[in-house]
Amino acid sequence: MESSSIRLGRIAGVPVGMSWSLLVIAAIFTLGLAEGRFPVSNPGYAIGAYWVAASITVVLFFVSILAHEVAHAVVAKRHGLPVEGITLWLLGGVARLGGEAPSPRAELQIAGVGPLSSAAIGLMFFAGSTAASSLGVHPLAVEVLAWLALINALLAGFNALPAAPLDGGRVLAAVLWWRTGNRTRGLVGAANAGRWLGAGLLAFASWQVFEGEMMVALWTAVVGLFIWQTAVNEGRGALARGSLAGLTAVEAARPDPPIVDEWLTVDGLMALVGDGGDHTAFVVRESDGVLRSIVSADEIRRVHPHRRGSVRLSDIAVPIESVTTAWATEPLLGVLDRIPGDDRPEIVVYDNRMCLVGVVSRTDLARLIQRAGNGRTPVAPPPPPPAPPHADAGQPRS
Ligand SMILES: [Zn+2]
Repeated sequence: MESSSIRLGRIAGVPVGMSWSLLVIAAIFTLGLAEGRFPVSNPGYAIGAYWVAASITVVLFFVSILAHEVAHAVVAKRHGLPVEGITLWLLGGVARLGGEAPSPRAELQIAGVGPLSSAAIGLMFFAGSTAASSLGVHPLAVEVLAWLALINALLAGFNALPAAPLDGGRVLAAVLWWRTGNRTRGLVGAANAGRWLGAGLLAFASWQVFEGEMMVALWTAVVGLFIWQTAVNEGRGALARGSLAGLTAVEAARPDPPIVDEWLTVDGLMALVGDGGDHTAFVVRESDGVLRSIVSADEIRRVHPHRRGSVRLSDIAVPIESVTTAWATEPLLGVLDRIPGDDRPEIVVYDNRMCLVGVVSRTDLARLIQRAGNGRTPVAPPPPPPAPPHADAGQPRS
């Protein structure tokens, strides 16, 4: 769970949190309903009544969004995917999945259940408002139910748009994946649609500025920018993953990384291998002869030139047990998914005799992705059947 979010509890075994940004949107909605919509649609009540009705409406609105996210989480779990948590934030909700859907069908169901549940909730509120109205319930209560019906219908409709990162975009990705047999193509197609949708929303926002509708313009611009940026990132991520699919850890690794002594200074190492050395990582040997740590070429270049004469490799090397290790024949994507987002990207690769056979550095990964992008190496076949975790894990399922 993000550090900026408030823990609310657990639903269906999934931790649920709320970002502080949700309070902003809660305040805007409550104000808009209490001072704007309700007094206009149902005039003549005490101002306190409007505020109570507005507060209840907004809480029920967030409960509806939560139900939408829980639906994603439950279906994902049914397909064997771990769900790390649900967070409610400024632009709705996010269910973070700890893996990738194993098949187009699973992806379609996990994504599709979101808009369907919003539509069902909207219908429920619509039935409730119709019943309440015919039973002669307080008109403000009827108005609350009617507004909730409308907003859930809008949520269902918007989320069903076939563009990443919306649920409809994931449905589109699943359909393209099923049609082409290639997950990457599906994800890239949905990401392209997302870029168009984001751009369209931004165009709409600028038109609204000229119309003088500043709130609409601002909101549409925020949503448009978010969709555009997320779609761009998802498209890049999908291509990067696609280019690494099918590789094993040892195939990605630079074999036999040079072994250097821990007492060497950065200057000493540079004199030894030359600044332009093609090495991306070094294994550091301690005084007892044991190989216990590694240092990447990036780390070495980051040492300020004035300090290179005094900083020793032992000062900047990191213990091997603190970086990710992999077996030579392990699929690379699976290894990458084991690395927490903010952790060091190096991977130390061992063969089945526990001998260190290579290191994959951040630079090595970037080169592999770039080379595949340039078409100089054959792009690996689609991911192997044992489902590699989710490309967009941590991305919103709003
Ligand atoms: Zn959703």
